[in-house]
Amino acid sequence: MKKLIVANWKMNPDSAQAAKQLFADMGKLKASKSEIVICPPFPYLHLAKPKNYALGAQDIFWESKGAFTGEVAAPMLQSLGVQYVIIGHSERRKWVGETDEVVNRKVKAALAAGLKVILCVGEDAEVRDKGMTAAKRFVDKELREGLADLKNPSLIVAYEPIWAIGSGRADNPTDTVEMAEFIRSRVSGARVLYGGSVNSGNAKDFLQHPEIDGALVGGASLRAYEFKGIITTVE
Ligand code: PEP
Repeated sequence: MKKLIVANWKMNPDSAQAAKQLFADMGKLKASKSEIVICPPFPYLHLAKPKNYALGAQDIFWESKGAFTGEVAAPMLQSLGVQYVIIGHSERRKWVGETDEVVNRKVKAALAAGLKVILCVGEDAEVRDKGMTAAKRFVDKELREGLADLKNPSLIVAYEPIWAIGSGRADNPTDTVEMAEFIRSRVSGARVLYGGSVNSGNAKDFLQHPEIDGALVGGASLRAYEFKGIITTVE
């Protein structure tokens, strides 16, 4: 199966012009062994010209329309060609206070609408310092609550230890493999990605393992050259 490489631009770049340039750079990537998904901020979605990549959103609301100021619904995203959606990113959990219950509502709505869900889970440093058993317990709770009431959901899970995101300190790939297997034991059939300071230099350390189905890439996805290096690793 192809590796899934997801670019999470977060709240970047700072202008539509710069986003157009980045989309153009991404459009030049050649991938046959990887599937590329670009997740720009909402206002830039309509600027994408997805040919060699698919389009993803960074969030979604659980209702499909109505009086929910500031929110964005599945049908709106789909009308712009969006196929994937990231749900439960740790930055949303931290800055917007998203709980597992909110994550669960969003996952249900996105799956019901036919979007491909990339559910983010991962422990903070304090938990990880206690060891892998504690980290698995933390992730297990996020999975149980985030996927409550869903029977055999078909989705993508991104394992993103919070301490590894944007820190330049990626996980130990051996631990990532162990966690990927654990996640798959909890969500059968899930494609499991790793996210946390992935770059062109360390991508191979993760992607060479069959247990790791791809990567969720933040910072490095904003630098076309870096992102190309990650794709080249897979190819
Ligand atoms: C992310 O945004 O999900 C992420 C993994 O960021 P970074 O690659 O910058 O650590």
